[in-house]
Amino acid sequence: MAELLDPSTLRRYAQTLGLRPTKTLGQNFVVDANTVRRIVALAEVGADDVVLEIGPGLGSLTLGLLETGAQVTAVEIDPLLAGALPATTASHQPDHAGRLRVVGADAMTIDELPGPAPTRLVANLPYNVSVPVLLHVLAQFPSWTAGLVMVQLEVADRLAAEPGSKVYGVPSAKLAWYADAVRVATVPSSVFWPVPKVASGLVRLTRREPPSTTASRQQVFEVIDAAFNQRRKMLRSALAGLAGSSAAASAAITAAGLDPTVRGERLDVAQFAAIAEQLARPAG
Ligand code: SAM
Repeated sequence: MAELLDPSTLRRYAQTLGLRPTKTLGQNFVVDANTVRRIVALAEVGADDVVLEIGPGLGSLTLGLLETGAQVTAVEIDPLLAGALPATTASHQPDHAGRLRVVGADAMTIDELPGPAPTRLVANLPYNVSVPVLLHVLAQFPSWTAGLVMVQLEVADRLAAEPGSKVYGVPSAKLAWYADAVRVATVPSSVFWPVPKVASGLVRLTRREPPSTTASRQQVFEVIDAAFNQRRKMLRSALAGLAGSSAAASAAITAAGLDPTVRGERLDVAQFAAIAEQLARPAG
């Protein structure tokens, strides 16, 4: 039996399970072995890795990851798919025994994983929750230092956007707290079943130190949320609610070494952190 899934085998597995892929859970499965091998190669997975995979689905990518000799911890929310995965992987790669751990859980709230701590994240993320899932596993499992995720193309561009770019926003600035992101490839919708309406992109993530600041991550994220909530306004107006007044916001922005007429879309995460630090200072 082939090591990876081909389109007809994948469809047969779905039929045997009585699976009706849902949009709510972003169930679009990769049916192209070349795409799986490309993802695994770009992710630079090796036999020493412990890979965290979110949303293994019918096992397309899981099999590609196991083929490298790596250990895989796969978190799947759909009990039907989580239950079927061990048998699928065992029949395609009988020697994988003991290298796969399947966890039936919601990746948006999961707080612990079985087995050794993950070294990498590799996932074809469910579209509608890709950003919250990614931010959650970055915060919750700091051991993984490199990752490769497939997301909707538009989201890939947002994640990798630099300050000042049209698509720079909350996901870009929050992700930058944890990691550098680069879009490394695009993937056509034709490699999926069911075929989604949009193309996908592959984003490479490299863990980095968060900005050095006395403000907490939550305080910095509140500033980011407020800044982009009213992105057309000058930052001092957008932060007026958080600071108590536009004058207080202006003072904090100036104390952070920035021009109070700046717009939030021009600032990087370290600059948001510097403002959050000023806002968090006791008055006096
Ligand atoms: N990895 C498979 C592939 O490449 O063919 C499936 C990817 S599919 C885009 C997304 C998968 O994530 C589905 O299997 C879906 O059931 C699962 N999923 C959706 N929401 C989830 C969540 N909150 N936590 C864990 N898995 C989730």
